[in-house]
Amino acid sequence: MHKTLYLKFILAYIIFGIFGFLVVATFVSSMTMEHLKRDRADSLYKEATLIANTCASDLYNNKTSLEEVKEQLDALSTYLDARIWIINPSGRIIMTTEMPLDVEHEAMVEGFDSTVTAGSFYTTGNFFDCFTEEMLSVFAPIASNFRVRGYVVIHTAMSSIRASGESLLSISYIMLMIFFLLSLIILIFFTEMVYVPLRKITTATEQYAAGNLHYEFQVDSEDEMGYLAASLSLMASEIARGEDNQKKFIANVSHDFRSPLTSIKGYLEAMQDGTIPPELHEKYLGIVLNETDRLIKLTNSLLTLNNLNMKGMVLEKTSFDINGVVRSTAASFEGTCRPRRIRIELELTGETLPVIADKSKIEQVLYNLLDNAIKFSYNDSAIRIETSEKHGKVFISVKDSGIGIPKESQKLIFDRFYKTDLSRGKDKKGTGLGLSITREIIRAHNENINVISTEGAGSEFIFSLPVDETQTE
Ligand code: ADP
Repeated sequence: MHKTLYLKFILAYIIFGIFGFLVVATFVSSMTMEHLKRDRADSLYKEATLIANTCASDLYNNKTSLEEVKEQLDALSTYLDARIWIINPSGRIIMTTEMPLDVEHEAMVEGFDSTVTAGSFYTTGNFFDCFTEEMLSVFAPIASNFRVRGYVVIHTAMSSIRASGESLLSISYIMLMIFFLLSLIILIFFTEMVYVPLRKITTATEQYAAGNLHYEFQVDSEDEMGYLAASLSLMASEIARGEDNQKKFIANVSHDFRSPLTSIKGYLEAMQDGTIPPELHEKYLGIVLNETDRLIKLTNSLLTLNNLNMKGMVLEKTSFDINGVVRSTAASFEGTCRPRRIRIELELTGETLPVIADKSKIEQVLYNLLDNAIKFSYNDSAIRIETSEKHGKVFISVKDSGIGIPKESQKLIFDRFYKTDLSRGKDKKGTGLGLSITREIIRAHNENINVISTEGAGSEFIFSLPVDETQTE
């Protein structure tokens, strides 16, 4: 594709050159010639009229002699580079500037016809066969007493007009050449600005299509090309990230399924072959049951996450009191908190605080956050849940004073299967899916969730929900 694009551009460039040359050789050339001819004829005609009105009419009125007129016209003819004739209406040549006066031999313009220039003030050709080369001739009548007494005719060789025309044309050719060479800059620009980046982009696309999503390329320009290249490499890195995530996801799922299954299998085999005596069966069946519970929890979390990820997830939004949901969720954890002497303190704004959201999903969010807060709290500590309202939003914060999250992990905890090293020893049952489910739910509501945490001091998770304006007045 790109090869032909470049060839097309060069072809257009050559066509442009040839076309320019043809235009100069035909139109420009004929227009220049025509212009020069008219221009010369115009100035000669003015001279002829001037002569006809001055010395030539003086000659016919016998105010001056033929010799005197010839002397004047000789000088003028050298100056004009032209031949000046005075002829009678019959065609008899009274005087010419190129020959001495000869009254003995009468010269005639055979077939002279004063209407030859009809419609114009000049004529080209050999002027009634008087010349062997092509001439430009103008003539002006010499009038006296309302009668045409003769004509002043000025001839100049067409070859001299052609010569000056050609020298003008050669300037046009030089200009055309310069212009053609200068337009090479456009070709160079095109190559540098469009063709080279386009080649890089095409090569990159081919590499991406072949599966090499980590192929790197550089287009430095800050125009559309640079933007296209940047978007393309961003797209590739997003796809690569997606693929990596998927691989990691599958590896994590397999790993999380395999370990409980391996231990279930191990215990059951040991029971079957008698390694575990029947009196201990109950104890180990309890462990097996625990492991199956974990598998069920994992499967449920995966299904929830998958449902949430599906496009067009339908939220059943209703107006409900978030304070009420906080109270009931906190109450459901009482049994877990009591043995560890963990207090849940509620600091709720208003008696009721209505929000518009999917109630059951928000219950799940609160459940996940509180579950984590308790899991990662020290015994004898407090967890504080706060609700507040600001600018049409309700902010819900769950704050613990537990182990905290290392800074480098804070961005990753919302990723699927992510668990910090700190939590691994403490929380063997965690799946690492709770927070990613939580974030998906909040995002589906077009809201945000953030975490503020200090390692060793505790963590605070804050999320927002839209307030139900109709209920607050
Ligand atoms: P899990 O099921 O493992 O709790 P989550 O997605 O809910 O999965 O949490 C991911 C990880 O984030 C946890 O394993 C833990 O390392 C960290 N984390 C979440 N909440 C807290 C918290 N309140 N205090 C400390 N670490 C936390």
